[in-house]
Amino acid sequence: MARAKQVYFFGPKGAEGAAKMKNLLGGKGANLAEMCNLKIPVPAGFTITTQACVDYFKIGGKWPSGLDREIKKNMARLEKEMNKKFGDPDDPLLLSVRSGARASMPGMMDTILNLGLNDVTIKGLIKKSDNEWFAWDSYRRFITMFSDVALGIDRQKFEKELSKEKRLAKVKADTDLPLNSLKSLVAIFKKIVKQETGKPFPQKPETQLRKSIDAVFASWHNKRAREYRRLYSIPDAWGTAVNVQAMVFGNMGKNSGTGVAFTRDPATGERRFFGEYLFNAQGEDVVAGIRTPLSVDELGAKLPKVKKELDRIYKKLERHYRDMLDIEFTVENGKLYMLQTRVGKRTAEAGVRIAVEMVKEKLITKDEAINRIYPEQIDQLLHKTIDPKAKVTALTVGLPASPGAGVGKVVFTAEEAIEQAAKGEQLILVRQETSPEDIGGMNAAQGILTATGGMTSHAAVVARGMGKCCVAGAEEIKISIRQGMFTIGSTAIYRGDWITLDGSTGRVILGKARLVKPELSNYFHTLMKWADKARVLKVRTNADTPHDAKVAREFGAEGIGLCRTEHMFFEGDRIVAMREMILANNKKERRKALKKLLPMQRKDFVGIFRAMEGLPVTVRLLDPPLHEFLPKNEVDYAILAKDLGVSIGELKDRAGMLHEFNPMLGHRGCRLGITFPEIYDMQVQAIIEAACSLVKKKIKVKPEIMIPLVAHVNELRLLRERVIAVADNAIKKAGVKLRYTVGSMIELPRAAVTADKIAEESDFFSFGTNDLTQTTFGLSRDDAGRFLPHYVGEGILPSDPFVTIDRDGVGELIKIGVSKGRKTKPGLKVGICGEHGGEAGSVRFCHENGFDYVSCSPYRIPIARLAAGQAGVLSKKPGGK
Ligand code: PEP
Ligand code: MG
Repeated sequence: MARAKQVYFFGPKGAEGAAKMKNLLGGKGANLAEMCNLKIPVPAGFTITTQACVDYFKIGGKWPSGLDREIKKNMARLEKEMNKKFGDPDDPLLLSVRSGARASMPGMMDTILNLGLNDVTIKGLIKKSDNEWFAWDSYRRFITMFSDVALGIDRQKFEKELSKEKRLAKVKADTDLPLNSLKSLVAIFKKIVKQETGKPFPQKPETQLRKSIDAVFASWHNKRAREYRRLYSIPDAWGTAVNVQAMVFGNMGKNSGTGVAFTRDPATGERRFFGEYLFNAQGEDVVAGIRTPLSVDELGAKLPKVKKELDRIYKKLERHYRDMLDIEFTVENGKLYMLQTRVGKRTAEAGVRIAVEMVKEKLITKDEAINRIYPEQIDQLLHKTIDPKAKVTALTVGLPASPGAGVGKVVFTAEEAIEQAAKGEQLILVRQETSPEDIGGMNAAQGILTATGGMTSHAAVVARGMGKCCVAGAEEIKISIRQGMFTIGSTAIYRGDWITLDGSTGRVILGKARLVKPELSNYFHTLMKWADKARVLKVRTNADTPHDAKVAREFGAEGIGLCRTEHMFFEGDRIVAMREMILANNKKERRKALKKLLPMQRKDFVGIFRAMEGLPVTVRLLDPPLHEFLPKNEVDYAILAKDLGVSIGELKDRAGMLHEFNPMLGHRGCRLGITFPEIYDMQVQAIIEAACSLVKKKIKVKPEIMIPLVAHVNELRLLRERVIAVADNAIKKAGVKLRYTVGSMIELPRAAVTADKIAEESDFFSFGTNDLTQTTFGLSRDDAGRFLPHYVGEGILPSDPFVTIDRDGVGELIKIGVSKGRKTKPGLKVGICGEHGGEAGSVRFCHENGFDYVSCSPYRIPIARLAAGQAGVLSKKPGGK
């Protein structure tokens, strides 16, 4: 069988690839090809496929057969296209070598520029460009990048020499270095290479290219790339493509430069071209945040023709891709080249606004708009901002790089951030500029503050993607990591001091400012309305208090799917009555304690039913093992002993009797209801009396009483009978009409596989996927933290099954449960109330399996609504399930 093509050419006459070949060519390669096909000026080059990278690793880090030949063929074609020869001493072809995976991983893998330079070709470059400064600047950059990426020499060794040379020459910017300094840097750099590797810097262009391609392949497995993939669930198996491209030079003087831009504002979504530009700079200078760049408008002032061309191109690209794009470009002596385009990363706020406005501009459909937003991103919109009423004084104002606000203690390194966050600390990571190695620390911090770098710097892009607030380019801050402090003017802020960042305005504030929840925009409400129309699933909330119920309703909850009554027993002095109840010696004592609890529960239910007027409310009867309510210390025991009129010793004996070896699988759930029926009696009475009292006030209530942890239908039969008896009696006493239902949680494997029987005694099912996951895997949900992260990190499990439903195991049980339940009762109402009810992938699973509703915590409701809308859109599409 012939080997699949491993190298794809692109150039001004068109390309062998296209945007739709992203999986094979990586995002960068596919889009470079697409731009060539659109006749947009792109320097010619070729892309080595992701499959070649995968094969490279498969055979132990060697080039797959045929790759060498294909690269040679494409190099010849590139030389012809550029009319230059690789290694030519008179007019050398120089190359860039860049990574480019399927999913964008900004800055995570490696890039080498100016490849092909050596002691001979530099002479040709000087002659051809008539610009000696530029040629030596390119050479010193090349040696640095190549040594770092391909030879594994610590980049700092070169940066240190560069800083020294700047000091000697008394200049601040790299661009101000005199020619002689560049020449001596090249000599010093070559010496470093000799020292570190024992060999001279490789002079042969073919060797340079081969080693660079190897290094880019290998960078797929560097630490930061692995960490990024873990954070964003990108499979290790994908590999990266390698793009080899003819160089164009932004460092040729004042008519040259390099820029990064977004076709719309990536922070707010506003429809305005938004970008940054550095004159006389190369490649990564803008993103790396080495100098703080100028706005792209200043490019318009200095090179108006280039700006006009850029405007034409970005508009064409946006129309073609029908999305907001991020573009990289270089200007070489007044001529514009596009180096990259891709769908731009954006904040949730921007994402929502762009989607809604693009529907109005007729660029996309409503269904596409719904699908454009990653549901988890919605979480960002609910992020806090600084209370506008709070009086705060900004120490300095940097760039508002990623919105929201963050309060935390100052740390200066990613490692510190990770370590302290693990101890539960809130932190702000303060850096000169961030680099991809910082990603773990950025994730652990509440916000990021950098001294240099613009709106497109690494810190800004990554923070926006993570939904963390970020203030970048706060140039007034002077950091001294050694002294563990930074200063702003005369104010010194030390490691561990509290600061507040306002990523929406760029303010840096000393101390802890008060934060508030934000207002949701009209764009958000419009998108949500569209999602609601597209969804079939109802979305309920898990709420135990009237306040949570109200918040949830504001977010669009259509009822309560789980009210955990046990939480009510911890409030104020109720716990004393609860303890009296569980430590009672006999029924009489227990009834006495329950009598105290009854009015408290009734009051809670009145509040909740009222907040959810007209909507269903599922109340779950007591579930956790009783020992969870036991006194925690001597004082608690003393109070209780006095109340009950018994000695502390006796009380401790009684508490000791409640000890269980494995309480999660012990005396809990409906087992409590069966052995202490008076507890459930009291709860049912409270629910029904509360409901009746509201019915009398003409307030519509729809109580649904739910029995937890049922394993056998006999348990349910017994309890259901008793619930109905107590409820009907209470309704009769109240003299009103009230409909209620009694249903079962399905949270044990046995319940799922005998669901046909359980359905005989159930008006509804609610899948408790927390316990169902725990019992299906046989792993304790409270102890899983010890090993689950390792399992997920090592790929033993594809994801944490407590976060997203394990479709193959738990999911199969759920399917059995739904189908058997509905075999007995065709119209049986089915919902989910485990944590999965607010997770996008699990919501989709519920949609696909005919659930009536999902239920989740209040702040996840918008996520669930959008995910349900997306599932609805997907099932409309031919081929979608
Ligand atoms: C469940 O097990 O999924 C559930 C909702 O109940 P709890 O988390 O209270 O055990
Ligand atoms: Mg449970």
